[in-house]
Amino acid sequence: MKKFSLMLFLLLLVFVLPENGHAAAGNSKIYLDGKELTAGQNVPVENVNDTIMVPLRLISESLGYNVGWDQKSKTVTIEQQGKVIKLVVNQKIASVDDKTVTLTTAPILRSNTTVVPIRFISEQFGLNVSWDNVKKSVYLITPGSSNDNGSSGGNTENGGSEVVPPVDPSKNLTMVNGVSFSENRLSIAMEGNSVPKVTVMTGPDRLVVDLPNATFSDLFGTGQILDPDLNGSLEVKDYPDVSGVRYSLYSTNPYTVRFVIDLNYAKNYNVSVTGDDSKLVVIDLNAENTDDTTTQPGNNGRKLVVLDAGHGAKDSGAVGVTGKYEKNFNLAIVLKTAELLKKESNIDVVLTRSNDTFLELKERAAMANNLKADIFISVHANSSGSSSASGSETYYQREASKALANVMHKYLVQATGLSDRGVRYGNFHVIRETKMPAVLLEVGYLSNKKDEALLFTDALQNKVAASIVSGIKEYLGIK
Ligand SMILES: [Zn+2]
Repeated sequence: MKKFSLMLFLLLLVFVLPENGHAAAGNSKIYLDGKELTAGQNVPVENVNDTIMVPLRLISESLGYNVGWDQKSKTVTIEQQGKVIKLVVNQKIASVDDKTVTLTTAPILRSNTTVVPIRFISEQFGLNVSWDNVKKSVYLITPGSSNDNGSSGGNTENGGSEVVPPVDPSKNLTMVNGVSFSENRLSIAMEGNSVPKVTVMTGPDRLVVDLPNATFSDLFGTGQILDPDLNGSLEVKDYPDVSGVRYSLYSTNPYTVRFVIDLNYAKNYNVSVTGDDSKLVVIDLNAENTDDTTTQPGNNGRKLVVLDAGHGAKDSGAVGVTGKYEKNFNLAIVLKTAELLKKESNIDVVLTRSNDTFLELKERAAMANNLKADIFISVHANSSGSSSASGSETYYQREASKALANVMHKYLVQATGLSDRGVRYGNFHVIRETKMPAVLLEVGYLSNKKDEALLFTDALQNKVAASIVSGIKEYLGIK
């Protein structure tokens, strides 16, 4: 955000604000890890010369990227963890850090947002991407713990040719839209009611996951390898338990999609299915880890809370209407909260930063994971192109964080007295990659004059700090 802040969002953000969106019949939908990003919003997803174009801001922000817009030069700037992507409307050449990349189709301005080729999203954000042309739906899956040196999670070039034969719609098959492996979990995005069946096999050790009455959707192959025989595999690197993941259309009578997780040794697992129409099946190999979260040895029942003040140093976060920095607000809240938590005999507190320091997002998550924290709370303030946007939001990414989000939000809204913008799903790095219940608080809008003034008062900051403590204590059951 930074210096673009006053001009940015002028056009783009209008689109992301729920109050501006009205769902009409036949709208396109975008799903990220099985969650619909486009609920209640009118989204321009369109086919331009056989290139599927998707709204850049909506997707970037859901991934936790900062997005800026310069109206004069028609330039979109996306930033995360030092990576900077710049695109210019109607120009095929974009820059990623210092390198230039060529898009298959130039970004286009549509309905107050910029749309870009779906392939650009998959390449630059490392997502597995698929498109259902019948339902006009885009499916995005966060891949494996991506490193910066190449593709991960089976995200390969294959030209996007359609290899799946048409399926008789009367069979009412479940459509498998994507797959990824990260954090020792296999995630399968699907639409339909197929109930996964997991079988443990030995010699060699492997888990076989069958989805009965299911097939690959038309463009499963655009985000993943899928050969003409409908077989494929994910490259799985750096996971000690797993040597690979394979999948295939195992049978067409009855239709069955099979995934095989090749293990290096026998391993426990949990299976979960979340979502309504669009579902996410997760085979979690961290099963043993989840058993011991309630009784941590050696800490005498004390709970550890990690508080994360968003941004820091060179990363100012949002810049308020009068030029105040989000990073300073976040830090003030976290320091005040920590002071209060130190008085709690059953709670230990660790801060990801206690001064104006820059930390990568992954360092923040790693800190909480390495400490085996019980709760992770990231504090932020929001910004919008609409100066009227105001209020408090609480974000969660994993289902395991939802209960914490509900409790924290109840106290947060009471403390700010601002409008209640609700508990929301947000695919932010720090709440996705942490392993304990984790939430991200957007206390108010620095782009709103009234919110900004309020957020920088000592009285409000004390109230918010106290509300965070109340939420933590209620969630942990501490009187
Ligand atoms: Zn922020």
